[in-house]
Amino acid sequence: MIYFFTAALIIFISYAVLPTLLIRSLNWGIVKDITEPNSIALTFDDGPDPQYTARLLDVLKKHEAKAAFFVVGEKAAKHPLLLKRMQAEGHTIGIHHYRHISSWILSPGSLKKQLEQTKQVIEAAINEEVYFYRPPWGHFNLFTLWTARNYKIIMWSGIFNDWKIKHIRNTLSESLAKETVPGRIFLLHDSGETLGADSSAPEHMINHLDEYLQQAALKGIQFISLKKNIRGIAHEY
Ligand SMILES: [Zn+2]
Repeated sequence: MIYFFTAALIIFISYAVLPTLLIRSLNWGIVKDITEPNSIALTFDDGPDPQYTARLLDVLKKHEAKAAFFVVGEKAAKHPLLLKRMQAEGHTIGIHHYRHISSWILSPGSLKKQLEQTKQVIEAAINEEVYFYRPPWGHFNLFTLWTARNYKIIMWSGIFNDWKIKHIRNTLSESLAKETVPGRIFLLHDSGETLGADSSAPEHMINHLDEYLQQAALKGIQFISLKKNIRGIAHEY
């Protein structure tokens, strides 16, 4: 029995944990920053959400900020109008799997299916090619870089625990301001339905974001669409 568990553990580490650690620490085939001067790239994962995404889009519009949305395919299929609105307002849309499943428990074939199904849903909604991907929880498996070779994999250089209200209730706008170094990619969430998240966390996030965008505009920070920036460096690898 002990041999079985040892073998299973070795396989899991080799298939899931080690590739994730190596890819993320050595930056193999992933993007964590942008090159545009004086700019930040805001990215929102886990939506679209019928309760929060439209309000978030209103706030972005109010401040003329562009962003990227990494959407969950099964949610996108239910809310194509939200995707159309994102596109119409100049935002980028990328893949965050069809269901919010970690690549650690996906076979190479299942991962491919998660990517393809989500790509189809997004492209049907916006009639534009999708070429950005962010794996849920930032998890990679041994085959991710090969399976997702036709996509730009976008990670982040600013993360704020915004899925837990207690971590952000009074502080998120300050934390965002403190981390504002031009070139960074910020990760936030416009749905509270993901495992481990507080369901109304996006409400707090959106209120803080509104305040932060107001202050950042005074300092001349631009919030740019990932699409614009990454397209230029897309051919480097
Ligand atoms: Zn996610």
